[in-house]
Amino acid sequence: MARHEPAHQVVLIPGDGIGPEVTAAVRRILAAAGAPVDWVECRAGLAALEQGQDVLPRETLDAITRHQVALKGPCTTPIGEGFVSINVRLRKELDLYAAVRPVRNLEGVPTRYAGVDLVIIRENTEGLYSGIEATLAPGVVTTTKVATEKACTRIAGWAFRYARQRGRKKVTVFHKANIMKLTDGMFIRCARTVHDQEFSEIGYQEMIIDAGCMGLVQDPTRFDMLLLENLYGDVLSDLCAGLVGGLGVVPGANIGDRVAVFEAVHGSAPDIAGRDLANPLALLMSAVMLLNHLAETREDEACATAAQRIKDGYNRALAEGRKTRDLGGTLGTGQFADAVIERLPA
Ligand code: NAD
Repeated sequence: MARHEPAHQVVLIPGDGIGPEVTAAVRRILAAAGAPVDWVECRAGLAALEQGQDVLPRETLDAITRHQVALKGPCTTPIGEGFVSINVRLRKELDLYAAVRPVRNLEGVPTRYAGVDLVIIRENTEGLYSGIEATLAPGVVTTTKVATEKACTRIAGWAFRYARQRGRKKVTVFHKANIMKLTDGMFIRCARTVHDQEFSEIGYQEMIIDAGCMGLVQDPTRFDMLLLENLYGDVLSDLCAGLVGGLGVVPGANIGDRVAVFEAVHGSAPDIAGRDLANPLALLMSAVMLLNHLAETREDEACATAAQRIKDGYNRALAEGRKTRDLGGTLGTGQFADAVIERLPA
């Protein structure tokens, strides 16, 4: 059917390592599914550095601000030295304060657990990722953990509104306020206040994070939504990915009041980059979240239709055992994309 509305301009950052491979696969699938998206390709990460640009070029930030929506491949960050993580910078500069990571079992991806259906909400702008590090004396270094009432209240409000909109039953906050009484103490106090004042119909629970991690691996189905500060959210996202098949199946979104950047939880996987081994599914699922976001915020039904077609396509592919190696299959990145495209509903 001919479409009269213009397509949505969406910024695409291919990223580093496996990024270009998985973004290319996802682009192909979205085109085949008729997603009304025009890509505005921008650089960030090592790809920008190699072109003599900043790792997070001003023009990339401006393009995301202008178009308000982006799909981002993973970007490499040097370990223990070198530049500040572009992922952390991007989230802070654009004030993308809420990271949302749905973690669910998929048919055709057998794991130790069945019935896992979690949503992780991670505070994205402060905590131990504030970038405040100092050398006090030779051999003595510090990293400062920051918590502000404003950011703690904002993320709690966002999480409970999400719970209400999506009919979620319970929000569990993981913390270490027994040790970090000020910072984690503020995080739980703000969450509790927001809950008690505005969202008392939603279940609310606080758990010390070590006990919470044990509970998660014993029986993840006891949890519904997890609300976490920055570092805990980062760590728990990978832990929870492991419950449902690994990093190849967990998508994500970084959301602010005006702008949203969608990206998989996984990194640039330099160990498998350039070998046609990467699973594009996590980025594809992130693109489905992006299309649903466009459908909701711009009231464009065509985005919701394309999102559902893609979901049906990858669910069929997985159910028929058409999977990449990380999920026990034999397909390469491009072959999995072909398998999804062949199974898109008419
Ligand atoms: P990683 O997520 O890149 O990889 C961890 C393991 O999972 C590796 O064995 C990798 O091969 C595997 N893996 C990840 N994604 C996969 C996929 N799509 N298909 C199949 N296997 C996959 O984590 P890492 O190795 O700790 O980090 C590598 C780089 O990525 C670092 O520079 C890190 O800073 C960066 N990173 C970026 C982001 C981001 O851009 N949002 C997130 C996490 C890590």
